[in-house]
Amino acid sequence: MRKTLYLKFLLGYLIFGCFGFLVVATFVSSMTLEHLKREKAEALYKEATLIANTYASDLYNSEASLEAVKPQLDALSTYFSAEIWIINPSGRMIMTTNAPLDVEHETVVENFDPTVTAGSYYTVGSFFDWFGEDMLSVFSPITSNYKVRGYVVIHAAMASIRASSESLLNISYIMLVIFFLLSLIILIFFTEMVYIPLRKITIATEQYAAGNLHYEFQVDSEDEMGYLAASLSYMANEIARGEDNQKKFIANVSHDFRSPLTSVKGYLEAMQDGTIPPELYDKYLGILLNETDRLIKLTNSLLTLNNLNMKGVVLEKSVFDINQVIRSTASSFEGTCRQKKVGIDLVLTGENLPVLADKSKIEQVLYNLLDNAIKFSHADSSILIETSEKHGKVFVSVKDHGIGIPRDSLKLIFDRFYKTDLSRGKDKKGTGLGLSITKEIIQAHNENINVISTEGVGSEFIFSLPVVDEED
Ligand code: ADP
Repeated sequence: MRKTLYLKFLLGYLIFGCFGFLVVATFVSSMTLEHLKREKAEALYKEATLIANTYASDLYNSEASLEAVKPQLDALSTYFSAEIWIINPSGRMIMTTNAPLDVEHETVVENFDPTVTAGSYYTVGSFFDWFGEDMLSVFSPITSNYKVRGYVVIHAAMASIRASSESLLNISYIMLVIFFLLSLIILIFFTEMVYIPLRKITIATEQYAAGNLHYEFQVDSEDEMGYLAASLSYMANEIARGEDNQKKFIANVSHDFRSPLTSVKGYLEAMQDGTIPPELYDKYLGILLNETDRLIKLTNSLLTLNNLNMKGVVLEKSVFDINQVIRSTASSFEGTCRQKKVGIDLVLTGENLPVLADKSKIEQVLYNLLDNAIKFSHADSSILIETSEKHGKVFVSVKDHGIGIPRDSLKLIFDRFYKTDLSRGKDKKGTGLGLSITKEIIQAHNENINVISTEGVGSEFIFSLPVVDEED
């Protein structure tokens, strides 16, 4: 059988109950009896001392007669439910409250030894085999002229002490049962708050492990259990999302590779079977070159993304002037700009603006952003590249006055292969990977990139870079 946590807890609970019962039945029982015995012995000893100092010493000093003392002691004996003796050191009984006075016959307690209490003032037993049952016997010496003349001995039946001990013990048992039942509440709480959520979590984990990542379960408690369940379900969602993305990614890659390859194959076949006459070869070879360029660009982008995604991307950080990098990237687009009649304005802060980053990767970021800005700009518009320094960071902004990005697409443009519907007509060569590469690079620097855009007005991409301290 599987040892569940619940079973263990239940077993612990039962062991706790049995152990409690055992403790009450042994320790508590003997402690109660011992306590009652001492208490009774103490009370009787006080009484015995009183009798020894009053009635008994009067008797020995012949100040009172046996007949006068006996009724008094009888009354006390009834009051204490005990038997009172006055006895000589030799063991001869002078008087007992248990029987009428009998001066004719001498009663002697055989082997009477007053030292039997051994330092204590009471003893438990049959009192020199006098009684047929256990008695608690208390001694107090009767002294006169510094001599022990006799003893007052009070005997109380141990049976009655045991009876009171048992009735006290019964209360302990009742308390134990109440406590045991009350602790059932803990068991119920445990079941409700720990066991049931834990079962749900275990079942969910089994489902996830079996590949059912869309399995849903509910643990509503606002504690560690609830937090664990929420984290687990979040983790499963993330894995499911990752898997979906992976599938989408592969579908996109295959699609993006297949379309240029299909057109390359189609043109080549047409050239081979003569559908395209040799005089048109130049035109179609140009198209073929374009398609292969697109494939090369796609492959390069995929390789870059893969490298960035691999854990522990090693950034080759160095201190460089970001203004300078912007100037040189902008100048590399001069030809394209002239073709499209787009101008680039630079508003750069300071002569030098040193940053600590991976220079070639930041060059790629600027290249991607500027490439997009030019691609999606209207003719005769201008692009503004600005640098500023705020709160220990350098901010670089690339702003165009182009087609803009629809509000719904803003969240998606950094996803792999995403292209807005607006851009499809304008940019046939785009792979939809440029911005995801850009974002990966900026995130590898522990920095951020944001976009502000209005459809039909233009877009602004702003990213941050760490500024260089004096010490750096
Ligand atoms: P691509 O290589 O196709 O440009 P990106 O990842 O760089 O891919 O961009 C993704 C999409 O985001 C583009 O296809 C375009 O729809 C949109 N986009 C990016 N930059 C701009 C911009 N400056 N203006 C308008 N749309 C943009």
